Amino acid sequence: MSILGTVQRPLRVAIVGAGPSGFYSAATLFKQNFNVKVDMFEKLPAPFGLVRYGVAPDHEKIKNVTKIFEKTASDPRFSFFGNVTIGEDITVLELKEFYDVTIFSYGTETDRRLGIQGENLKGCHTATQFIGWYNSNPKFKDCSFDFSQEVVAIIGQGNVALDIARILCSTKEELQKTDISSQAIEALENSCVKEVHLYGRRGPLQVSFTPQEIKEIGELMDCYPVVDPQDLNLTVEGVDSLQLKNLEILKSYALNPQSKNRRRKFVLHFNRTPVEIIGKEQIEKVKFEINEPVGNSDQKIVHKTRRLEEIQCGLFFTSIGYQGIAMPGVPFLSQKGIIPNRLGRILDGDNVISGWYSCGWIGSGASGVIGTNKLRAEETVSSIMEDIPHLPVCENPNTDAVINLLKERNVEAVSFIDWKKIDAHEIMLGLSLGKPREKIDNVSQMLSITKNEHSH
Ligand code: NAP
Repeated sequence: MSILGTVQRPLRVAIVGAGPSGFYSAATLFKQNFNVKVDMFEKLPAPFGLVRYGVAPDHEKIKNVTKIFEKTASDPRFSFFGNVTIGEDITVLELKEFYDVTIFSYGTETDRRLGIQGENLKGCHTATQFIGWYNSNPKFKDCSFDFSQEVVAIIGQGNVALDIARILCSTKEELQKTDISSQAIEALENSCVKEVHLYGRRGPLQVSFTPQEIKEIGELMDCYPVVDPQDLNLTVEGVDSLQLKNLEILKSYALNPQSKNRRRKFVLHFNRTPVEIIGKEQIEKVKFEINEPVGNSDQKIVHKTRRLEEIQCGLFFTSIGYQGIAMPGVPFLSQKGIIPNRLGRILDGDNVISGWYSCGWIGSGASGVIGTNKLRAEETVSSIMEDIPHLPVCENPNTDAVINLLKERNVEAVSFIDWKKIDAHEIMLGLSLGKPREKIDNVSQMLSITKNEHSH
């Protein structure tokens, strides 16, 4: 009989990454009928990962999920270690000394690339760069975008692409109500962008965005959506209700063109594969190959026509899906950008690595909404529960030893109480600017707030 999970010897779990899947994993572990201690590690001083740094600022309701995460963080069995990079400050093998179980839930930090000529020209950016910048992610705070350009092209027709388009087409009044960075509000207020073009390689029935998100773009104050009615001549036999709803909304855009007095237009293009980005140093044009319309086929394949088309544009974003990056010492499938796993159990080839699990996008790829990760956490935790009798017991089951190790290495770990000081500071700063929050985008400044006795 294993002693793990008893009062004498609670199961010790390290969670790497403080995003939704990390918090859902902790909450699911706390619901089980056994004793557990969870230490969560996060490389940034602030928790909540994708909710804080990925979700669009104008999707405030989605961000309310942090209240549930805060409840989890207030559990006495939980400790938070922000500003600690696993793989650098502590290696994954060192974690094995202190924890019986490690759950890797650090999400997908980078973007898929098109792999076409010109992708690195000035003016070409990825979704993570733009989203990280407007969401005050310290890693992207110094990015800059040339908003003196009038025409923007975005590749990809998922919800992330729509987030980018919506932010580009919003007014100052709309942005001011959100926690978008002040730097972004100022830059976007002075933006000359007039046209935002969204390109998909397949048809209107194969888009990845959802009805709510495509509807929102039509509700912006100073932007009107444009869809070519000819693209919507489709048989709808066998299509599902989400596709039908999307189609209905697209038809309403095509049939009732809105006021042309608005400052910006948002144009949807279908059946276009980008083949080259043209320019000397700065992007000037994007060349597309036109594909045959695919009707209601659910096949991923596109049939190219060899006919080409170009659009002149000065700002370009790829939004074709996120990818994870490898953690030193942990198996990784580079092509898919995920940690290989079976029901959360991490695999080295065909063999399970005992005590190592994945959860969320780093194990599944970037798909689904925030809540989907709750199901993934349940799956991972149920694998852990099944495995407990066979798990190797760690040598040094002691969080104080981890704290000492971090001190020895001069790592300034941020506790959840420390984070709450940063949180309060950001809300106060936001209040003074007439916004719900102004995030601090600088790690040293965040750390200095945690040390300030007078911080609220
Ligand atoms: P996504 O939903 O997978 O969409 C990716 C898009 O990129 C698809 O249109 C895809 O087209 C296209 N694409 C992929 N490779 C391409 C290539 N080589 N050339 C041209 N186009 C290419 O990814 P996402 O938009 O990054 O979203 C990630 C997840 O977060 C999704 O589950 C999304 O729903 C979720 N999310 C939700 C919300 C929300 O609920 N409000 C907001 C943001 C994100 P094909 O289908 O042809 O491959």
